[in-house]
Amino acid sequence: MSEKQEFTFFENVERSFDKAAKFTKWDLGVLEQIKACNSVYRMRFPIKRDNGTIEVIEAYRVQHSHHKSPCKGGIRFSDEVNQDEVMALASLMTYKCAIVNVPFGGGKGGIKINPRNYSPYELEKITRRYTSELVKKNFIGPGIDVPAPDYGTGEREMAWIVDTYTSLKPGEIDAAGCVTGKPVTQGGVRGRKEATGLGVFYGIREVCNMPEVMKKLGLSTGIEGKSVIVQGLGNVGYHSAKFFREHGAKVIALAEYEGAIFNAAGLNEHEVFLHRQKTGSILDFPGATNLAKNTDALEMECDILIPAALESVITKENADRVKAKIIGEAANGPCTPDADEIFLKKNILCVPDMYLNAGGVTVSYFEWLKNLSHVRYGRMEKRFTENLNGKIINEIESLTGKKVGAEEKAIILHGADEVDLVHSGLEETMIAATREIMDIWLNNDDIPDMRTAAYVSAINKVATSYAELGIFP
Ligand code: GLU
Repeated sequence: MSEKQEFTFFENVERSFDKAAKFTKWDLGVLEQIKACNSVYRMRFPIKRDNGTIEVIEAYRVQHSHHKSPCKGGIRFSDEVNQDEVMALASLMTYKCAIVNVPFGGGKGGIKINPRNYSPYELEKITRRYTSELVKKNFIGPGIDVPAPDYGTGEREMAWIVDTYTSLKPGEIDAAGCVTGKPVTQGGVRGRKEATGLGVFYGIREVCNMPEVMKKLGLSTGIEGKSVIVQGLGNVGYHSAKFFREHGAKVIALAEYEGAIFNAAGLNEHEVFLHRQKTGSILDFPGATNLAKNTDALEMECDILIPAALESVITKENADRVKAKIIGEAANGPCTPDADEIFLKKNILCVPDMYLNAGGVTVSYFEWLKNLSHVRYGRMEKRFTENLNGKIINEIESLTGKKVGAEEKAIILHGADEVDLVHSGLEETMIAATREIMDIWLNNDDIPDMRTAAYVSAINKVATSYAELGIFP
C-alpha cells in the first residue's frame, strides 16, 4: 500500500486485525468470517422539528458478529456517523467482548445528528422512532441485540429506548434487558455510569504495577505522582480523570473540542466540569493556562495520555510529536495503525481501546444479567454476610478479651451492596484481561505491541466459539 493512502476507520480495524492474524493458527476462511460485518441495517425516517419542518434522519445498526448472542454495543449521536464508522465500532465491540470474556457478539448503532442542535423533545422523538425501526426488523431485544450509551447518548436516551421497546412488546418478561446503561430507576445497575472510566483506571493501574514494563519506559511503578492528560470531558474522560486524581495522579491538562487547559499543579475535573457548565467553555479556568489549540494537549510532556473522545485523533501526522510515555485508549480507535508504528519507534506504550475501555460493556453485562434475573445484586446475601461477620467479631472479641476498633468493625461488618459487587467484578475483569494480554505480548518476541496481542487474544477466543464452522478447542 502506498504511504500516502488514507484508510477508513473500518479499514484501519481490518489492518490491525490482519497484523495480528499472522500470529494465530486459524485458516483464512475462519479469519475472513471473524472479520466480516454480518448484518448492516441502514435506515432513514422523518421527524417533525419543533419549527414544523420535516427532517429525514439517517441512522444505522450494525451486528458485526453472531458467534454469541445477543449482539452488544452502544448507540452514538454524532454528525460524523456513517456506515464505515459504525461497522468499525461494531467490529471493535466483538473483539472487546471476547477479550474480557463477556459473552456477546459485537454491535453498534449510530444516528447522524449533532444532539446539541435538537431540543430534548426532538431527541426523544428521534430515539423512540429509531427504536421502533429496530423492533420492526428484529434488530433489538434481550436475546438479539442490546444497545447502550456511546458518544452523545446517556441514561436519558436508554430510558426512552426501554420504554418504547416495552410498550411495543407487552408481556415480554425480560424486556428490561433490551438495552443497558439505563437509569437505576428504569432497571439500570449501580456503577454503570462510571464503569468505562473506572475500567480505564484499573487497566492502566495494572500496567503501572508491572515493574518490567515500567522499567522499559523509564517510569517508576504505581499511579501516585504520575502526570496525566485527558482529552475529552464526557462521561468517560470525566470519570477517568476523577479516578486518576483520587488515586494520587496529577491531571495536568484537560481538552475539549473548544480548547484545552493546563495546570502543572493538577486540575480537578469536577471543578472544570462546573466551570464549563457555567461559562459554556473549558477555557479561562481559574489558575490554569489556555492552550492555543485543543490538539496541543495531545502533544505535551506527560506520563499518561488518555484520549477519551473520538477516533483517529493520533495519526501519522501528529504521532511523532506525542511525548507521553503511556497512551491509554479510553475512546474507540483514537490512534491509527500508522501511529502505532511510530509509537513503537518512540518507545511509547499504547494500551489498546478494545480492552482498556471494556469497562462499559462489562458492567452492561452485569446490568443485563440483573435484568434477566429480576433481582438487585446483593439483595440475597448482604444481610446474611453482615450477621455472620457480626458473629465472627463477637467470637474473636470474647476469645481474645479485646475489642475491635469502631472503624475496623464497620468495614468488617459491611455486606456487599450492588455497587460494591459491580466495582469488584469490574476490577477483577480488567486485571485479568491486562495480565492475559501482557502474557501473550511478553511471551512472544515477534508480537510488536500490546494492540496486536489483544487482537490475538480476541481472534483465538472468537474462533474457538464458532461451533458452526466445526472448530472446537
Ligand atoms: N459504548 C460502549 C463501548 O463502546 C459501551 C457498550 C455497551 O455497554 O454495550 O464499549
